[in-house]
Amino acid sequence: MSGRWPRQILFGDIDAMFASAAVLADPSLRGKPVAVGGPPPRGIVAAASYEVRRFGVRSAMPTIQAMRLCPQLVLVPPDRPLYQRLHRQLQDITDRFFPETEWTSIDEFYADTTRLQTRHPDPRELGQALKTDITRVTGLTCTIALASGKTVAKIAADAHKPDGLAVIEPGSEVAFLAPLPIRSLPGMGPKSTEAIERLGIHTIGDLLEPRLEQSLLRLLGSRLAAFQSLARGRDSDPVVADREAKSVSHETTFDEDTNDPALLEPIIHGFLETLTHDLRLEGLAAGSFTVKLKDSHFRITTRQRKFPSPANYDPDMWPDIRLALAELLQPRSRYRLVGLGLSDLVPAPEPLFDRRQRDAVAILDRLIEQHGAGVVRLGGLPQGGNNPKKRGRRTEN
Ligand SMILES: [Mg+2]
Repeated sequence: MSGRWPRQILFGDIDAMFASAAVLADPSLRGKPVAVGGPPPRGIVAAASYEVRRFGVRSAMPTIQAMRLCPQLVLVPPDRPLYQRLHRQLQDITDRFFPETEWTSIDEFYADTTRLQTRHPDPRELGQALKTDITRVTGLTCTIALASGKTVAKIAADAHKPDGLAVIEPGSEVAFLAPLPIRSLPGMGPKSTEAIERLGIHTIGDLLEPRLEQSLLRLLGSRLAAFQSLARGRDSDPVVADREAKSVSHETTFDEDTNDPALLEPIIHGFLETLTHDLRLEGLAAGSFTVKLKDSHFRITTRQRKFPSPANYDPDMWPDIRLALAELLQPRSRYRLVGLGLSDLVPAPEPLFDRRQRDAVAILDRLIEQHGAGVVRLGGLPQGGNNPKKRGRRTEN
């Protein structure tokens, strides 16, 4: 095991999810050459089990061709509700493991695990724990790979399917990638692959050969630099969590329109307390905020600002938000709705508070859990008298 990685990305991919789901729904199919898809003559294979792949059956192949390759093929119709149910179970698991997860399809996800290394110093142990949970809860198997970037993690997982666990240590990316065929690189389509292979170039490592540089440049033009970066294992593409997790917001509509800061400020401040409490529980911090007002003519104005650095402790955040609200308020307008959104959510940097402050916040969070945000506060502001009608957490575009 090496030391702490400067950046660590985990990629997970369920093995043949639709075909495996068919076996979960009907265990008598286990071990049989199962494919999910529509019947001939017009049907297409949506997913092929590993048993049927041995016969050369692939997804997106016409079913009629698949049946010719594998006459004993067991064809199962797609079951979307089942896939959705499994996807939600998978999300529950990744939500427990990671502050945020980027799902790139129903059965593939990325998580930035850089900050989890304190709790999970061994990437193999983290990957194995996740694999074990996924199989225990869903009955599905998956392949997990950890690397310093998304591309290497994805390529490593593809190379270790099914039921694999791959760890590509930082510094070993180039050696790992070099012998792989160039078509393993994402974005390298069949046409480019063919043209490159005609030059006698077959592996990712060849892309870095100085003597092939000119021919490659003629073929790939400006794309060459990007492929070479990937071949060197350089990939800083961030994990972008699902929309639900990217922002949180509260808003409320008043019984009577108002433009009185003495009423508006405590309401926005109350939203801030509730939202930051949620963020702390989830180990997240917000990079920016949006104050939103809707006037009596239903015109919406907003002010969006960045915090000096991502934050989840409301006393540090309030002055900026209060200022934005003051700037937004027009003396001659009256408002029927206020809202506050926190966005650019990122995993909370660990030393966000000093220890004393962190202990106080932990106690506060427990009290909020027991009594609600309106009852408990660290200091200062009186609670406003204008009771919010609606205070649901919701997602923003
Ligand atoms: Mg998959």
